[in-house]
Amino acid sequence: MPQEYHNTLSFARQMDAEDPLQPFRKEFLIPVHENKEQVYFLGNSLGLQPKRARSYIEQVLRQWNQFGVEGFFTGDQPWLDYHDQLIHPLSSLVGARPGEVVVMNSLTVNLHLLLVSFYNPVGKRNKILCEEKAFPSDQYLLETHIRQRGLDPGEVIIEVKARDGESLIRYEDIITAIKENEDELALVFWGGVNYYSGQVFDIKGITQAAHQAGAIAGFDLAHAAGNIKLQLHDWNVDFASWCSYKYLNSGPGAIGGAYIHNRYHADNSINRFAGWWGNDKNTRFLMEKGFRPTLTAEGWQLSTPSPILYATHKAALEIFAEAGLDAVFHKGQQLSNYLQFILQDVQKEIGNQFQMITPLQEKGCQVSMLVPKKGRFVFDYLTKKGIFVDWREPDVIRLAPVPLYNKYEEIWQFGQVLKEAFLTFTP
Ligand SMILES: *Cc1c(COP(=O)(O)O)cnc(C)c1O
Repeated sequence: MPQEYHNTLSFARQMDAEDPLQPFRKEFLIPVHENKEQVYFLGNSLGLQPKRARSYIEQVLRQWNQFGVEGFFTGDQPWLDYHDQLIHPLSSLVGARPGEVVVMNSLTVNLHLLLVSFYNPVGKRNKILCEEKAFPSDQYLLETHIRQRGLDPGEVIIEVKARDGESLIRYEDIITAIKENEDELALVFWGGVNYYSGQVFDIKGITQAAHQAGAIAGFDLAHAAGNIKLQLHDWNVDFASWCSYKYLNSGPGAIGGAYIHNRYHADNSINRFAGWWGNDKNTRFLMEKGFRPTLTAEGWQLSTPSPILYATHKAALEIFAEAGLDAVFHKGQQLSNYLQFILQDVQKEIGNQFQMITPLQEKGCQVSMLVPKKGRFVFDYLTKKGIFVDWREPDVIRLAPVPLYNKYEEIWQFGQVLKEAFLTFTP
């Protein structure tokens, strides 16, 4: 750990006082538990509401009221140009060129659409390499997508596993698996950050290995976007997608995003499922025959998007830009460092009643703890005390303090209540 930490209220308060992002907490609405602000460590599940989201939604409603369908072309924020406001801050967030990012649909939908374009099985080169125990939606995605191509998921999917007795997948094992299958790999499809363990993967290294094997590299960035620094273009990633309701604070069911490397934008040989919203803006409303894609990632859009969803996304992305991405990602690491320190300190007092499974280095904000037997009790105890964390059956508690609205003091407080929970455990 980079500096000396202390498990004291005064130390935590001093960290908060020195935190350049502290003013941003008031940009968010914090849920309340028994008349007190919750300690909300669920930014990895549903990020909190930016206060300005309401006025941006109201702007859309007003425009709809005033202009009807003309709202697409007129008013303070014509809906047709709204997308342009989102892709600049978003492309910075994921390290892409602006034309490489599109805001559309939601994550699983986008991944299906991207597989249409980037999963191209040819003969025995039809395998997809992925992580074992990927998020269930990703498993269902691959299974059904492969079957729809007339292939057998059991034959096509190669899962890389954690070694026996370990909970993290070793980087060298991923690279070895790619090399071992280099004659048969069509696609390496991986997560940026594992949703369960919080482990961050080396996207650049995996992409390079995939390309050396003659495969495409695509990523699910659900837990990475807004959590860790990404350089998708420079890392030469082929495609990626993410949701924006987790670390990106854009609201329940928020609109998703996708990245497509610019080398593909004008490539006519690529398959896609098209719709009118992906057609070149200049001819979109001429209603002519023959799809002419916009020559950016926007060419992958299908349907008329909702400006109401754009509004919450804009509110959230503005705050990232105002806070500064380096500051956000730096504090994210600091928060999880401090949390890991607190967990180790609690362990010193109560013994090995839980195990921290998130690595000390390759991580973002999230820290996951494995709590055999007492997990559910501890989780309920925390909740009763106003500390909201995430429970994964059968025995994992996930904690995600996030840089834009969480405080070091809340981490200290969590440590106190956690210790109390173990000390008062009654089966
Ligand atoms: C949250 C999450 C999803 C959810 O996908 P939606 O289509 O937005 O519901 C998918 N994959 C991963 C890895 C996730 O963490």
